Amino acid sequence: MYKNLSVPENGEKITIENGVLSVPDNPIIPFIEGDGTGPDIWRAARRVLDSAVEKAYGGKRKIQWMEVFVGEKAFNKLGEWLPQESLDALKEFKVSIKGPLTTPVGGGFRSLNVTIRQVLDLFACVRPVRYFQGVPSPVKRPEDVDVVIFRENTEDIYAGIEWMAYTPEVKKVINFLVNEMGVKNIRFPESSSIGIKPVSEDGSKRLVRSAIDYALKHGRKSVTIIHKGNIMKFTEGGFRDWGYQVATEPAYRNKVVTLREVWALENKEKNPDLTLEENAKMIEPWYDQLDEAKQKKILAEVEETMKLWDSHGNGKWKKMILLKDNIADISLQQFLTRPKEFDVVATMNLNGDYQSDALAAQVGGIGIAAGANINYITGIAVFEATHGTAPKYTNLDKVNPSSEILSAVMMLEYMGWQEAADMIVKGIERSILDKTVTYDFHRLMDGATLVKCSEFGDKIIANM
Ligand code: NAP
Repeated sequence: MYKNLSVPENGEKITIENGVLSVPDNPIIPFIEGDGTGPDIWRAARRVLDSAVEKAYGGKRKIQWMEVFVGEKAFNKLGEWLPQESLDALKEFKVSIKGPLTTPVGGGFRSLNVTIRQVLDLFACVRPVRYFQGVPSPVKRPEDVDVVIFRENTEDIYAGIEWMAYTPEVKKVINFLVNEMGVKNIRFPESSSIGIKPVSEDGSKRLVRSAIDYALKHGRKSVTIIHKGNIMKFTEGGFRDWGYQVATEPAYRNKVVTLREVWALENKEKNPDLTLEENAKMIEPWYDQLDEAKQKKILAEVEETMKLWDSHGNGKWKKMILLKDNIADISLQQFLTRPKEFDVVATMNLNGDYQSDALAAQVGGIGIAAGANINYITGIAVFEATHGTAPKYTNLDKVNPSSEILSAVMMLEYMGWQEAADMIVKGIERSILDKTVTYDFHRLMDGATLVKCSEFGDKIIANM
């Protein structure tokens, strides 16, 4: 059925039923080699992956790789940057892995990566950020960072709904805003470009649910919704409010507690005779200055929380996932000053972009930052290094393959092949401690041995 792709004969498809992935012992996994340094890091990653699976399962399990063409290779072979059947294969076989792709100039694409994410509706961009002992870092205690970012991948200002200044389209939009919507605060209407920021209840909730599910599955303690709701009340603020609503859904109610619920429960635990009003005043120090409607709202909130007493009270909440929120700009400071307070983060597209790069820098940067784009409902997932193609190093067998390899680790974890994933992590940890590293770490480390990309892969295999 595929014209230019060959499906491995000995493999089987990964499937999903009722949200649960079913992975055969010989799963067919599509890979996209990527452009620039992509083939170098992919080759190293594939060897490490195959070795880990072989070592962990003694030949009982084996990935059946299926090459899928996207990017320059697709263009050179087939005259298209993103052939439809490549997208079909990513969809059909559910779990895949890719190297970085170049963004073609012209051709109507904003970016191949963004297009893949949007077409396959991969709504969660998942970025675990942790420290590996020995990696050069610009901060004093990089080991305090152990955060998994869930960045919303399909909405927000990244939806690409924007019009360039002076075009007839932007004039139409500005006229509509000014004349029909009564907008008065476009500072320079004659010379403005306009962008639109769509944020939905559906999109926000599915992202926050995925973050909570991840936290539950991986024994994490908290989910922090990071937003700029103090300024953008309905978009960023909507994301926060809809996110909190997830805690009240039946599937989550007995597994999740919000920070304000903790305050009210703790107040009552310390003083069982506390009235609702006394409790409300402790939660909201300005209570007496508030108008009656606001006071009523807080009282109702405390009353609602007290209904949770049987399931959450007397400290039972301590075993649950804590759902809290934080403003985006302060969060960027706190990542630096007290990273331990962040565990799983749920955030929107643009903020998530900044946050993942900022955190990645703290633990050693781009060469070691893994990522995945996942739709937890359809099960479709594309794992990828988070950096670009680093074109100046193409075919030099030079760059650090860790980002791609750690993305492969995420893929194994997603498939439930934890033993193989753990082996690779051990291999990386030991290789870095041995100070046998690629150029990016070598230039920042004293007394380290410089190795090539492929040699670093060998070293990981030897250290597994
Ligand atoms: P980049 O490829 O990420 O490279 C920027 C710099 O990061 C490199 O010059 C290098 O730093 C360092 N670096 C990147 N990968 C590394 C690795 N594996 N090991 C060690 N160091 C690494 O960013 P760019 O030059 O802005 O983008 C190049 C192309 O990649 C563009 O076409 C862009 O569209 C595309 N891109 C693709 C993806 C993706 O596929 N997910 C993401 C971002 C960008 P030094 O110069 O200090 O050695």
